[in-house]
Formats: sequence, structure tokens, C-alpha cells
Amino acid sequence: MITAGADIGSSSSKILILEDGEKILSAVVIPVGTGSSGPDRAFAQALDQAGLTRDKLGYIVATGYGRRHFEADRQFSEITCHARGIAWLMPEARTIIDIGGQDAKAIRIEPGGSVGSFIMNDKCAAGTGRFLDVMSRVLEVDVSELAALADESKQEAAISSTCTVFAESEVISQLAQAARREDVAAGVIRSVVRRCAGLVKRVGPEAPVVMTGGVSLNPLAVRFMQEELSIPVMAASRPQLTGALGAALLAARELSKLKAGAL
Ligand code: ADP
Repeated sequence: MITAGADIGSSSSKILILEDGEKILSAVVIPVGTGSSGPDRAFAQALDQAGLTRDKLGYIVATGYGRRHFEADRQFSEITCHARGIAWLMPEARTIIDIGGQDAKAIRIEPGGSVGSFIMNDKCAAGTGRFLDVMSRVLEVDVSELAALADESKQEAAISSTCTVFAESEVISQLAQAARREDVAAGVIRSVVRRCAGLVKRVGPEAPVVMTGGVSLNPLAVRFMQEELSIPVMAASRPQLTGALGAALLAARELSKLKAGAL
């Protein structure tokens, strides 16, 4: 039984192919999302890595912001898919913080992996990866290098603007006044994390807390989140793929149900 999960985000396209609901055959992340060639390229690469053709897939579940534009048997929300993926990887996790390119979510999960409650910010870029992308450009560093730059900081710069557009002007002006790039980088990461931590506090975070989504590839974001929440926080392994994993697991469940119904 081969199934696939497709997590089509605003910033990246993720495909994961699973055998019998337990063995990962391939997993691909392409750093462009819905509306681009990313979803098709990720899908083709995942099939290629697994040595499969599309007709071998028994069921496909799509999730993510662009899920309705991806051809699949069924769609599930990102909340359901992240919870399912984390429950499989780390059954002990009780809180998920997912920070992607365009939104952030805090999810409480019950023992067994069902979603208890969740809160989402999809209205404002300031608490999302987008803020880091914009500020990285101003700092002339790739977002994947932002944490390494910020790690050199001796004194975090304070970013007072809560709006991405105003914060960008603030950062440009700080740099023009000879602020150290590393201090600004640290301040920028702190700003995103503090906003998300406010969201997380509203769901009443319970340990163990795990971070998913592209922003958790930034080790300083994970450390700052731990500081802001005052409870241990860890990043999921391959955190951008958690939603696609959950989608592939849900696909396996749906296909098993179909097969059982056909008997
Ligand atoms: P979505 O699912 O919403 O498309 P992702 O979960 O892939 O988004 O997260 C995308 C965000 O993750 C980007 O906006 C960027 O800020 C951040 N990101 C992506 N790759 C890296 C990396 N290698 N290191 C640090 N941050 C990253």
C-alpha cells in the first residue's frame, strides 16, 4: 500500500511517499510553494526518488495553503496533518508550534494525537517566516544563514515596530546608523518569536513542546521560543516535512478504510 502526502505551502512544496503507513520511501522539499512549479517538481522528484510512477500511489492527501490546487484524493487541514505527523514521530508531544512562510499556529494535542485546541495567525506577516525573509534581504544574508549571523550578537537590537513594513524601515535605519548586523539579526529573530510566543501562550502550552515548519530550521528561533515560554522547546526532525508526513499517514488510513469497505 503506497500513499503520498502533499503539503503545498505559500513558501515551499513538500511531498512524502509512504509504504504501508510506516516506511518513508521518499521526502522532498522544494523552496517555492503554491502557484509556482514547486508542487509539480516536488511530486516528480519524490516519485523518482522512490522509483515509482504516479499510478502506483493508492491514495494522495493534500494539505497546506495551496492544497485545493493540487490534484489529490482528499484534503485535510494543516492543523490535522501536523498533529498526525508529530503524534507518529513523537507521541509524547503535547504542544506544536508551527511557523511557516505566511502563518503561525499553536496546537495542543491530546494523548493519542487528536487536536485539543489551536490558535492561528494568518493575518499578519510579523510573526511568520515572511518577516525573517524580508529582514534577511535587508541584512544581505540568506535566511538559512540568519541564525549563524545572530549568534555573534553581543546585544540584541530592539525592534519596536510590530508591522513588517515599518519594521523593515526601522531595520534599514538602524543599519544606516551603524548598528551591528548581528545585533539586528538577533533582534529580528526575537521579534518574530516573541509575537508567536504570545499566540502560543493563549493555547496554554504544555510540555513537551515541539516546533515544526521552516522557521524551526533556525536554531536561535527555537532557543528564543524556549526562553519566551520558560518551558523546554525542541525542533522536530526535518520540521518542514511534518505536515506532508501527517498527510501521507492520513492517506494510508483512508485507503485502509476503503479497502476494508470493499471486502
Ligand atoms: P510554508 O509551509 O508556509 O510554505 P515553511 O514551513 O516551509 O512554509 O516555512 C518557510 C519559512 O521558513 C521561510 O519563510 C523561511 O523564513 C524559513 N526557512 C526556510 N528554510 C530555512 C532555513 N534553511 N533556515 C532557516 N529558516 C528557513
